[in-house]
Amino acid sequence: MRDYYEVLGVDRGASPEEIKRAFRRLAREHHPDVKKDDPEAERFKEINEAYQVLSDPERRAHYDQFGTTQPLGPNRRGEGFGPFEDIFDMFFGRQPGAAAAARSEAERGADLRYDLELTLEEAASGLEKHVEVTRLDTCPTCFGTGAERGSAPEKCPTCGGAGEVRYSQRTIFGSFTQIGTCETCGGAGTVIRNPCKTCQGLGRTETTKSLSVKVPAGVDNGMRLRLAGEGEAGRRGGERGDLYVFIHVRPHAVFERRGRDLYCSIPISIVQAALGDEVEIPSLDGPQRHAVPAGAQPGRVMTLRGIGMPDPRGGRGDLHVRLDVHVPTDLSAEQRKTLLEFSRQRGEHVKPQRKKITDKVKELLQ
Ligand SMILES: [Zn+2]
Ligand SMILES: [Zn+2]
Repeated sequence: MRDYYEVLGVDRGASPEEIKRAFRRLAREHHPDVKKDDPEAERFKEINEAYQVLSDPERRAHYDQFGTTQPLGPNRRGEGFGPFEDIFDMFFGRQPGAAAAARSEAERGADLRYDLELTLEEAASGLEKHVEVTRLDTCPTCFGTGAERGSAPEKCPTCGGAGEVRYSQRTIFGSFTQIGTCETCGGAGTVIRNPCKTCQGLGRTETTKSLSVKVPAGVDNGMRLRLAGEGEAGRRGGERGDLYVFIHVRPHAVFERRGRDLYCSIPISIVQAALGDEVEIPSLDGPQRHAVPAGAQPGRVMTLRGIGMPDPRGGRGDLHVRLDVHVPTDLSAEQRKTLLEFSRQRGEHVKPQRKKITDKVKELLQ
């Protein structure tokens, strides 16, 4: 699927006017009703789809937030708008049929996003997290009807419950009978004379709910968990939206993660590097004793199989340990003598240098 902004050739911060202007220009260029099987029709469909999403503040926000096209879950809105209706909309600013959709169709609650930050240890072990989510829930006083207890929504007197009104309009193209949303009831077909005091007649109230999220072991940045039905309450009997928990794993002081593998480095002395040794290696399972082979070169990487990150699909990655050979900078006179003797035995002709003042200062600052 192409990026909607790209389709309309506008940038992400484009104003509604800019989006409308871009759509009108493109719609004129790719007008589809010239021929039936015009390849332009496909292009127009794409332009139309992009416009339908970006011109609706709610759907645009959803698209911006979730990065994909709007249906994260099943969504009844946004379907069935043909190109001709939009041509109509372009000239007259209203959509026939929109009122009918608003009246009769249950509206699914919005999907919600929760950003969950985890430590690497938490991501590795998996856990159950309690999160607080503020969302619109069905009003507990009126059970979503919006009417005060003991009363019920009444049939709208303007449209007689149809939710839409017909009126004629004279335009340069001739006379049209148009169907528009009833302004008295906003298309609902009912009016509330005695609105519920808890929700002011909206049928939904903002509540904060504590939810428990089961985080599987091995989750990584960019993954999201879906909690079906934990989004906002729907309207007019519509189903609830979903809650998407986006995972963020904090950087770790010791381990760097790449997929299911972990990387770290450990300091060893030149003597350990030359002679080999048994060293302690940090791991998520606690410190591990491991042999460093004799003659290990600086930067050498040892791989410890199966103690990296767990894979949510099963198995476990590796831990790669880089050997960081530290050259001593604080030699005593005795140690210098020993090293010189050592180099003499190896037939090297070393001319020891005095430390520069600047280097000494750097060391002190470290
Ligand atoms: Zn209420
Ligand atoms: Zn009405």
